[in-house]
Amino acid sequence: MKVMKFGGTSVGKPERMRQVAQLITKDSEATIVVLSALSGTTNALVAISDNLAQAKRDEAKQNIDKLESHYRSFVLELVKTDPIRDKANAVVTEHFEFLNIILRISFSEALNKDILAQGELMSTKLFSCYLEEQGIDHLLLPALEFMSIDQQEEPQLSLIRSRLKNLLAQHSDKKLFITQGYICRNAKGEVDNLKRGGSDYTASLVAAAAHASVCEIWTDIDGMHNNDPRVVQKTVAIEQLSFDEAAELAYFGAKILHPTCIWPAQQENVPVKLLNTMQPDATGTVITKEAGSVGIKAVAAKDGIIAIKIKSSRMLLAYGFLRKVFEVFEKYRTSIDMITTSEVAVSVTIDSDAALPQIVKELEPFGSVEVEKDQTIVSIVGNEIAKTDQVLQRLFESIQSVPVTMVSYGGSPHNISLLVPSVHKNHTLQLLNSGLFGL
Ligand code: ADP
Ligand code: ASP
Ligand code: MG
Repeated sequence: MKVMKFGGTSVGKPERMRQVAQLITKDSEATIVVLSALSGTTNALVAISDNLAQAKRDEAKQNIDKLESHYRSFVLELVKTDPIRDKANAVVTEHFEFLNIILRISFSEALNKDILAQGELMSTKLFSCYLEEQGIDHLLLPALEFMSIDQQEEPQLSLIRSRLKNLLAQHSDKKLFITQGYICRNAKGEVDNLKRGGSDYTASLVAAAAHASVCEIWTDIDGMHNNDPRVVQKTVAIEQLSFDEAAELAYFGAKILHPTCIWPAQQENVPVKLLNTMQPDATGTVITKEAGSVGIKAVAAKDGIIAIKIKSSRMLLAYGFLRKVFEVFEKYRTSIDMITTSEVAVSVTIDSDAALPQIVKELEPFGSVEVEKDQTIVSIVGNEIAKTDQVLQRLFESIQSVPVTMVSYGGSPHNISLLVPSVHKNHTLQLLNSGLFGL
């Protein structure tokens, strides 16, 4: 069994969907195909949901109509025979009727999740219509029947595995399965999702659940690049990464992968391949247990970071101080990304300001608290970085002109993290590209 996941751009145009159909039927291995929503759809659904949350019904209606006409044209181009076109149009009608009904219902968080789920539901059903028209035997597996998260919003891998196993056993005559990325059920049984970009996470969870031979993530670029291609002009694809390296890059901002999507594949030792739908023969990136080579592999950046510095002379020679500080973050379920300490101060970074006022209030009794917003974590990721020749020298020489506010080194053998004000991010990534990679 293998898993192939196609992102929004890979299914965003009828001709791309046709190409996906070719890619998934190339070899004879049984395959679970995970699809995202058509590109732009989830953003449009988020906008509709925001309109409704703000009681802007007219704007919501306009956005719903605009999205519907996009889907009508999509169907017109995707399928050609009358019965299948009717079927595909009925899919569009069903989902837009739902969106029009919710215009009249009072808004809630549960409704928001229902709205966001429409994209993946439509893309998979439309793709299924196309496969049917082409005579390609397949089965649509509803993700809402097997993908679930618990009360802490953590995926329930063993439950997912047993439900998926049952579903597959019921259809042992089939070799091709299509399912939705991103969507799942939560602990209350409501429709929920794995957060933006979550289709990668679905793919990895399904691959781990099915003990797949490989989890292929097909996207619009030929693999993980050494730097952010949206910011830096000259970047190159990396041939091989370890699970740990890929997880660090994903967590620290490499958008090609959902931040937490590596662990399920890693747990079951399923290799992950990053491949380009537009260039299917390109090597891409393979992610396995082995790192392949020693040294720096890539740089990534995570925006929206807040630095909090707690300064206290009471920390001097005291024990238990850090525990008390960390307990405050635990209480407000806020995870810390970077930490640096001196004898009288501790600085941490967080990526959410949801509980910032409460956190600051509870930290104030410990000493003076300074908050710095609009920061970016720049992570340098690789294998056994410390053993790499003159790594720190090369790193700091290349970014001499950047006002670095925090440095974290040694926490993991795969990562050096720097905190810089976000206005310096692009410049820093560019400098590191030439300083570390000679590009
Ligand atoms: P999909 O819709 O297929 O899930 P995404 O847009 O989520 O695709 O991810 C692919 C995009 O990630 C690329 O187009 C690229 O701009 C961006 N990206 C950011 N950092 C990297 C990186 N280090 N390597 C490759 N792509 C990256
Ligand atoms: N459609 C969802 C999003 O845009 C999930 C995904 O594409 O991975 O975030
Ligand atoms: Mg993505």
